[in-house]
Amino acid sequence: MDCFTKWNLKIIFVCGNGNCKITSLLLTIRLIIEKIMFLAIRVIFIAALFLVFGVVHAEPQPTNNPPKKNLIRTVCLDAGHGGKDPGCLGPKGAREGKVTLKIILELGRKLKAEFPDLKVIYTRETDEFIELFERADIANRNKADLFISVHCNAAANKSAYGTETYTMGLHKTDGNLNVAKRENSVILQEKDYQTAYNGFDPSSPLAHIMMANYQSAFMASSVKFASLVEDQFAKTYKRKSFGVKQAGFLVIWRTAMPSVLVETGFLTNAEEEEYLNSEHGQSQVADAIATAFKKYKEDIEK
Ligand SMILES: [Zn+2]
Repeated sequence: MDCFTKWNLKIIFVCGNGNCKITSLLLTIRLIIEKIMFLAIRVIFIAALFLVFGVVHAEPQPTNNPPKKNLIRTVCLDAGHGGKDPGCLGPKGAREGKVTLKIILELGRKLKAEFPDLKVIYTRETDEFIELFERADIANRNKADLFISVHCNAAANKSAYGTETYTMGLHKTDGNLNVAKRENSVILQEKDYQTAYNGFDPSSPLAHIMMANYQSAFMASSVKFASLVEDQFAKTYKRKSFGVKQAGFLVIWRTAMPSVLVETGFLTNAEEEEYLNSEHGQSQVADAIATAFKKYKEDIEK
């Protein structure tokens, strides 16, 4: 016996006992239940139609996020000194030109691993002598978007230690000028340097003042990157950071892109010499610069 027949029997039975009020109530309940079921089936059917129609005809929605820009495509990595120019020396014999080369090659490896599409250019990949103007030319010829020159610092005070990152500009202290003079003095070993650098005298403060306005178009970006590098040294590796400074460096004089010169530590300090000359120290320095690069790239391209 199906459900409908059961309902009819019930109605007849109740009416047979003369209780028509109960019969009418049961009929009303039955009608309400049927109506609710009918409505529910309609709602489910319409919802299913919308779902199918929506999936089949879904059109790509306009997104608020524009496609990612790729503004930093090429980076030029410059290992300071090399070959007949050893740079500064540590008390245990570490040579700046060899330490900077190891840091730069490690930095290049880290950048390539993190950004496979990034073009990494080196001014040198072996222990060889490259003139300062040629280093800038390599970066310009390859249309680099950022130039990073890595060095080690030196001081008469053997206990001096810490990092500082330079951008091109007018030195505010004799200390900054002295760093630039020392890093620029290598041109005295270059052939015909008077012609190559328009008579620039690396020991003359006036020459440094005249050079200070170069790179001004890239000043803000250079300082941004330099700050990120120093932040990483201080926060991630707890190095003593002397922050971002300005001075006239010939190696970034004519680069046509944001450029920095990183003094990664004092090779004249025995402790920092050991650190900078170790694989562990070189890897940390390279990692700090690579992380700064990642943050800089993300910031420029957002
Ligand atoms: Zn140097």
